[in-house]
Amino acid sequence: MLYVSRNGKVRINYLKREDSLLIAKGEVASSSKPNLFHKVEIVYSFEKKYLIRGSCDCEISSFYGICKHQLMLLYVSLRARKKISKTL
Ligand SMILES: [Zn+2]
Repeated sequence: MLYVSRNGKVRINYLKREDSLLIAKGEVASSSKPNLFHKVEIVYSFEKKYLIRGSCDCEISSFYGICKHQLMLLYVSLRARKKISKTL
């Protein structure tokens, strides 16, 4: 594990920057089921300023593609990236 958010709800396991893309993989706590963490992957474009790809194993994501877990992983990844590595 690379990083855990202060509230313990977001764990980053992988974080890499490729040119203007930020690739993150991690686990995000379910809000309805205690002790359940969803597996989440995202690809964010610094150039376009939005998620260009993302996946999560929650139910919402299987219907709508995007879910709050992907957004939480993005938010924590953007805030924590410089703490993890200066090159991120
Ligand atoms: Zn989700």
